[in-house]
Amino acid sequence: MTMTTSPASPAKLVLCLSGHDPGGGAGLQADIEAIGAQGAHAMGVITALTVQDSRNVRRVESIPPSLLAEQIELLLADSEISAIKLGLLGSADQVPVILDTIARCGVPVVLDPVLRAGGGGELAAELTARAVLEQLLPVATIATPNADEARRLAGASTPAHCAAQLLARGCEQLLITGGDEATAEVENHWFHRDGHSSVFRWPRLPRGFHGAGCTLASALAARLALGETAADALLNAQRYVHDCLSHALQTGSGRAIPGRWRR
Ligand code: PLP
Repeated sequence: MTMTTSPASPAKLVLCLSGHDPGGGAGLQADIEAIGAQGAHAMGVITALTVQDSRNVRRVESIPPSLLAEQIELLLADSEISAIKLGLLGSADQVPVILDTIARCGVPVVLDPVLRAGGGGELAAELTARAVLEQLLPVATIATPNADEARRLAGASTPAHCAAQLLARGCEQLLITGGDEATAEVENHWFHRDGHSSVFRWPRLPRGFHGAGCTLASALAARLALGETAADALLNAQRYVHDCLSHALQTGSGRAIPGRWRR
């Protein structure tokens, strides 16, 4: 009997530049799990190692930009990337490498401008936050700040005022997430630079979560990589996150993490 093997099907690849959370709630592990669950494949370049638990972040240790550049160089020479997801940056020094990568790939970019942990710990220095605002927002297809990050980046208060400031930087679309706001339902505010906007409303679940933002941004990047329209990707990625949060895992004494695996 002869055995035949079918050729491997080409994978849709999402290049993730993200921090590592050793607790597995946020960062690159969230990206890998969420992207895999959508049916795409994550390639992960770590921007920073962190010291944290389910309650808060204690320390962020940046990876040298030259090491990022060397990893990306080899990956791009070998593979065709379909989307890029940007998460926590280690430092502003990494931005030139990231801009070069975006220019070379020419694919949709989902920017999750990670500035502060849900537990309150600072994740980005002022210089890094400024680089995100001035250099990365202009090249983002969709940015997904939470409301707190949007206010800090924009220096404004309401979602609409924040959006006016942030879209003026050049990003195409913005989803300001409201998971940590005091509204009865979770309200995620979407804005397009062409003037369109809408609000997605989700039932509020009775606890706080760690890693929801990373899960959303990477699911969104995966769906864009798979060829969904931005409108479909936005809705489907939020549905996926809501489902993950409905099946959250308690890994420690702090906030629960999204249950991202297939159930
Ligand atoms: N650690 C890393 C590596 C992250 O990327 C993030 C957020 O994106 C966090 C911690 C904080 O996550 P959260 O605000 O959900 O606690």
